Amino acid sequence: MPGQDMIQILSEIKPEKQNALQEITVEPLGAVRVYPNSIHTLGDNFLFIGWHGQRKYLWMASRQPGGGNELNGKEIPLAAGALMQCSLSHENAVAIRQWFDFARPVPIGLDDSFGFGDRLGIANPAHVRAAAQFEMRPIFAQQSIRELERTQREADEVMDAATWAVFQEGYKDGFGADADHLKTTADFDRMVRAGFTFFTIDPSEYVQNDADVLSVAELAAKAGDLPWQELQDDFETLSVRYEGQTIRVADDFTLQPNREMVLRAMVKYGRVIAHTAKLYRYMKETYPEHPAEFELSVDETDSVTSPFEHFFVASELKRLGVPLISLAPRFIGEFEKGIDYKGDIDVFKTEYLKHVKIAEKLGPYKISIHSGSDKFRVYEAIGSLQQGHVHVKTAGTSYLEALRTVAATEPALFREILDFSRARFEVEKATYHVSARLENVPAADRLSDGQLLELFGQDDARQVLHVTFGKVLTTTEANGKYLFKDRIMQCLTEHEDVHYENLQRHFIRHLQPFVSGA
Ligand code: ZN
Repeated sequence: MPGQDMIQILSEIKPEKQNALQEITVEPLGAVRVYPNSIHTLGDNFLFIGWHGQRKYLWMASRQPGGGNELNGKEIPLAAGALMQCSLSHENAVAIRQWFDFARPVPIGLDDSFGFGDRLGIANPAHVRAAAQFEMRPIFAQQSIRELERTQREADEVMDAATWAVFQEGYKDGFGADADHLKTTADFDRMVRAGFTFFTIDPSEYVQNDADVLSVAELAAKAGDLPWQELQDDFETLSVRYEGQTIRVADDFTLQPNREMVLRAMVKYGRVIAHTAKLYRYMKETYPEHPAEFELSVDETDSVTSPFEHFFVASELKRLGVPLISLAPRFIGEFEKGIDYKGDIDVFKTEYLKHVKIAEKLGPYKISIHSGSDKFRVYEAIGSLQQGHVHVKTAGTSYLEALRTVAATEPALFREILDFSRARFEVEKATYHVSARLENVPAADRLSDGQLLELFGQDDARQVLHVTFGKVLTTTEANGKYLFKDRIMQCLTEHEDVHYENLQRHFIRHLQPFVSGA
């Protein structure tokens, strides 16, 4: 089509429900496959995302040469106007965020929300496709400091992946960005620089887990040592606020803490409260203009957070002027990685409802479900209640859907990953909450291609694959090349449609129960 106006061609491509690629011919380059929903106008220019050969680029079509000069790329002169071909780089993502409001994260507020963590940086577009079908507000950029270390990713990469995803999919409803499990002020600095807006404070190192088993005398002794100055309080004043009181949380729910309960809560969570307030104040004083909302997570602790302990922590934080948007208790039952909830779901439901009532009374804020991947029984329970506000975090399950895609499309590669993961499991499981037994996961040479796919429905295999992601994605060979990462990325690039479909189907399963309930 010599001389045909590129802008004319782009303006005739209409948005499309599944965002299926459309091929156009660019005179000097040949075929470019365009995501219809990625076409956005900026003044007289047209921006879009599309494939050329095996790579995905950002493109900008202008009526005049030089129109895309603010982007980093190479200009291709056309018969009419010019086309900039740009990599999906950090610099270009920064430009996109400057130009398009919807490409920047925003605080989500009290709306129910769902976190779509990803470790490969290419799952977000499929997350967008699933999220767009539901009311829950999405958090597309979500990564904990631990996951950044394990995957050797930078906070910027996590943010950029979310920006490219909403741009590619034409998603304009706003997304959140969760800097997950922050433990230090340096963690805050790192995530603020990358533009995160949701800050999850993890004071788990300050939880005194043995408070559950100490005697009252031991507890009283320990309570004396709490950082009372930081708590802006003293032992007697605090005790009087709770001990022997009847706390009316809701019409049908009261708490009556006795001396022992108050002492246990104080010792178990006193330092948690002090540390949380310290991190909150650091953030507010250091970055007063930065949009921020705060979650407190105590999910990664040994002992269950009782309703009174939840009340105690939240009410003390409120006294210290720390507003929460969500709180993640350590729930009753087992929230193991990558598999469904283990425990009595009716007991969970009863306890969850108490946590909701406390959150409504002291906030309102959301109850946050960590290790939320694949907890279908929990979603049904919460969906059936239709009370309070909820936030869910998932991460590992997107990696498993990536591996499912590899197993379906390149079984030989998946066989290598499976045996590698089996060999690393015993070491890697140490920092995760899992119960898988290696002997229940067959070696690759004992499985047919079809049986490889069945592993994704088997709890032991899911966990073995889940906890070894860091080693799979970062191990290099003697020549410095990645053992698996490049081949996994190549496979998922070639089979992007299968990968997106697997993710979309899987997340619709996650989101649906919150709408309809059990
Ligand atoms: Zn967590």
